[in-house]
Amino acid sequence: MTTLLPTPALREPVDPSVDHEIQAIVSGRSTTETCATDLAVGPWDFDARPGYGPGSSMGDVIPTGAPRQGELPREYREAPEAELADRIRAAKATLGDRVVVLGHFYQREEVIAHADYVGDSFQLANAALAHPHAEAIVFCGVHFMAETADLLSRPEQAVILPNLAAGCSMADMADIDQVEECWEQLADVYGDLDTPDEDGRVPVIPVTYMNSSAAIKGFVGRHGGIVCTSSNARTVLEWAFARGRRVLFFPDQHLGRNTAKAMGVPLEQMPMWNPRKPLGGSTADELVGARVILWHGFCSVHRRFTVDQIDRARAEHPGVRVIVHPECPMAVVDAADEAGSTDYIRKAIQAATEPTTFAIGTEINLVQRLAAEHPQHTIFCLDPVVCPCSTMYRIHPGYLAWVLEGLVRGEVQNRITVPAEVADPARLALERMLAAKPS
Ligand code: SF4
Repeated sequence: MTTLLPTPALREPVDPSVDHEIQAIVSGRSTTETCATDLAVGPWDFDARPGYGPGSSMGDVIPTGAPRQGELPREYREAPEAELADRIRAAKATLGDRVVVLGHFYQREEVIAHADYVGDSFQLANAALAHPHAEAIVFCGVHFMAETADLLSRPEQAVILPNLAAGCSMADMADIDQVEECWEQLADVYGDLDTPDEDGRVPVIPVTYMNSSAAIKGFVGRHGGIVCTSSNARTVLEWAFARGRRVLFFPDQHLGRNTAKAMGVPLEQMPMWNPRKPLGGSTADELVGARVILWHGFCSVHRRFTVDQIDRARAEHPGVRVIVHPECPMAVVDAADEAGSTDYIRKAIQAATEPTTFAIGTEINLVQRLAAEHPQHTIFCLDPVVCPCSTMYRIHPGYLAWVLEGLVRGEVQNRITVPAEVADPARLALERMLAAKPS
């Protein structure tokens, strides 16, 4: 978990042609199918629209109250890419060790080029922790990741999200008011949720995926629960089953279902909780018989992968090794050769000693970067439609240049701060995760 990619400066230069397809979408020159042509316009144009845009699905509506980005000054919107890159490099050189720039695996290449660390959300939060003297941590990811970095960094450090509209549609599917309401309804079914039975277990333990708001992590911390990542979900569920008769898992139904199924939990003991329906759409009896209650959330990027794509990959590339992310639907995980986190996928490819063909079911920016870093292998994305995580994609280099030049002038823009009453229990839920050990 703690292994991060070295800084881009230390890595082999990435072949810019590998990112050609995404570059082509941005410039409106794509020749292959894309999930939508909206990516051809600047993110400042689709920041203002309802919905998240392509990749994380136009159908996923941004919740009321989600942060919105103010207008980016014209000089950053209109500057050519080369000028923006020069300005970012100059600002970073001026700031030196006062700033750390973090780039998520799914981030676009022209932003990753300026990152000091590249990794998944938890690895990057740990990278922030490793720089206690940096005054600013610029997180080129999405909102919940910046919140997690704020939870783990020192109070005087400013965590900056270059575009406030870079949310995560999956994280936003578990709204804190809906979760509180769900908890009350579960108390009606199970009785006192804090009193353990004769085995020392409470009726239900809440577990949240790292991809959730700080408010949800705080809720989990207050109610004896824990955070998980896609790397340690099984260990965390074991921890929870040792303390509770059931688990309430949010926001990603697929990670919860895939993990619990691999642990032997029958599907009929995993009802879904739809927050728009009384008792989440289940009967009281079904909830009493439940082992894992799955929140009705999903990642629109990973939900795009299908069994048909796997069948096609096997037909066209005999011997192909198919690895998918556990945020993919269960049928896709079952049909794949392996399923694992971004870290698992990276390590599996690194460990392959013979030239291998890999079909990968995760976000396109990561797949293309892996293909560039491992030219001895054939690596392609299962989905022939090029569809980046558009929420992540909102961190255009123009926003990065804007926040960095602001820091040079002494101005902190787009600071993400988690209030203490949320941060304390959220940290507790994270600490429980760090202390959880595989059985
Ligand atoms: S890939 Fe999915 S879960 Fe990850 S940030 Fe994008 S929308 Fe959220």
